[in-house]
Amino acid sequence: MRALAFLLLLFVFGLSKEMNLKKVEDNIYMVRGVDELPSLENKGFVSNAYAILTKEGWVVIDTLSTPELSKKLLEQMYRVKKAPVKYAIITHYHPDHWYGAQTFKDVGAKIIAHRGLYELYKSGMAKSILEEANKNFGGLYKSVLLVEPDIVVDDYKKLKVGSEEFEIISMTPAHTNSDIVVYMPKRKVLFAGDLVYQKRIPFMADRNASSKGWEEALKKMKNMDIRIILGGHNDPMDKSAIDYTLGYITYLRQNIKKMKEEGKFIDEIKTALQDSPYKSDAMYGQFHNANIFKVDSELDLEP
Ligand SMILES: [Zn+2]
Repeated sequence: MRALAFLLLLFVFGLSKEMNLKKVEDNIYMVRGVDELPSLENKGFVSNAYAILTKEGWVVIDTLSTPELSKKLLEQMYRVKKAPVKYAIITHYHPDHWYGAQTFKDVGAKIIAHRGLYELYKSGMAKSILEEANKNFGGLYKSVLLVEPDIVVDDYKKLKVGSEEFEIISMTPAHTNSDIVVYMPKRKVLFAGDLVYQKRIPFMADRNASSKGWEEALKKMKNMDIRIILGGHNDPMDKSAIDYTLGYITYLRQNIKKMKEEGKFIDEIKTALQDSPYKSDAMYGQFHNANIFKVDSELDLEP
């Protein structure tokens, strides 16, 4: 009996890591990645993607980590409705948002991304990052083909698809140098990419990240009329998630700044910040120390 219960538990646990397209609300669907670093075991399913069904067809926001994952997503979208995919919008250049884009390009979607992603692609830097990531993660990204954006966003772009409106707004530099958010004004829904979290530590250590820019981006979002926030990770959030994220970033910046002024070295700062109010939140062990190092080096360059 106990063995049976154990097997059942394993089965349920196993299933919870499977991709499962869920309805968020009318015509908005999501898949929810796990709160882990990418691995062969989780197949890189560590981020969310969204699909919005309009009268003209689908709009996808973020494309998961691999073509295998995005094909699974597309199959599940087609099970809801076999309609054309009009656009795939990439919130920033990280693998878990961009590397599955080929699947949607193959079925005719126009790929939309920020100028920063386009430039990374054009410079060949994106290719080196892919090769490096594939090496570091045991071949996880071996079937990834990098996809060039068809439509490049500098600051702002408005899209109308069917009767839905999408405002694509640059928020960069923040998490990276290619961050965009997507706002549906009539529905007051914000797709925030990797800029907003709830009870999960943001990753601030990208070479192009700016903690100062990220604070400004969050303050801009605070002024927007938002009912629901759909992020690149996390379950659907309400607006209080903006305060949570801003709280963590400001906590790091202020504490590190103060300790630097007291003449403390990075190792002392790191030790002092191990016990923080955020220590029980998701991805703390994975991201917190890297964030401290990055913010410390950013502050060296700030006037
Ligand atoms: Zn990211």
